[in-house]
Amino acid sequence: EAKAKGRNTFHFYSQELDAAANERLFIENELRQALREKQFVIYYQPQVDSRNQQVMGYEALLRWFHPTEGLIPPTKFIPIAEATGLIVELGEWVLQESCDFAVRLKEQGRENNISINLSARQFKDASLVTMLSKMIIKSGVSAKRLHLELTESMLMGNVEAAITQLHELKALGVSISIDDFGTGYSSLSYLKRFPVDILKIDRSFVRDIPEDTNDMEITAAIIAMAQKLNINVVAEGVETIEQVQFLQNNNCFVVQGYYFSAPIPEREFPSLFEKLNNIQRIENLNKNAG
Ligand code: C2E
Ligand code: MG
Ligand code: MG
Ligand code: MG
Repeated sequence: EAKAKGRNTFHFYSQELDAAANERLFIENELRQALREKQFVIYYQPQVDSRNQQVMGYEALLRWFHPTEGLIPPTKFIPIAEATGLIVELGEWVLQESCDFAVRLKEQGRENNISINLSARQFKDASLVTMLSKMIIKSGVSAKRLHLELTESMLMGNVEAAITQLHELKALGVSISIDDFGTGYSSLSYLKRFPVDILKIDRSFVRDIPEDTNDMEITAAIIAMAQKLNINVVAEGVETIEQVQFLQNNNCFVVQGYYFSAPIPEREFPSLFEKLNNIQRIENLNKNAG
């Protein structure tokens, strides 16, 4: 009896593993074709100054529209692209698109910052700095508009190499953000050794504000520390007015999250600006009434 059960259990798990392995293999194969056939689109999520609803910048977030599978989220395909090395080519495409987008914004009189996620493999790539430098010159983007998002774990592996790479990137004129801050191996003593411009407070700390007092303490502490180190902060995953107010009360004004907008394709920008203008108008009415 036990034996039969064991066999069934094994069979069950092995089917599950097969399914996971098959999905992986499918994505791996399809990724190459997707790159060739331009199945990727970049969505942009605004980072907004919550005091005046001004857009301060946008984060570029990759979307894959597969012809038969539909939308495949980045959490599904980025790790596979990273493992196969395809992320280098894909990441270069994201950088190129983001530069072109920044130039288009400037031409429309809406010059703004663009945050771009770098993968570990891209960051370690010895040719990253040269490639980016050429791209900046060719596209005509102002380097200071480009913000590169890295995670703590990418910096903590080989600290000395990371510091050298960061200084070379900074020499191009770009800014450095630490993404998902607080979730990795955050060694605060290293933080001051890295030439970092922006900390992005991870969504997991913001999500349960104002119910979770621990998360509120952690968030307030990150903001206070960043302020002392002269580093800017952006809060991720801000969904409610209560979260906006808590962050404002603790001196964090630039927020990114569904409260203002989900990531959207460029064609939806007109309605984004309309929405932000409306919020602005209502806030001004309230101010004048109060
Ligand atoms: P991330 O860089 O931390 O990006 C923020 C994620 O939070 C995005 O998920 C965004 O859609 C989501 N988000 C934003 N506001 C809210 C909110 O208010 N509530 C909730 N629940 N979620 C919110 P997305 O677009 O699925 O991307 C997931 C991750 O995939 C990114 O996390 C990033 O690590 C990676 N990724 C996306 N695009 C790229 C890329 O071009 N290159 C690389 N290397 N990684 C990328
Ligand atoms: Mg990011
Ligand atoms: Mg993030
Ligand atoms: Mg995050």
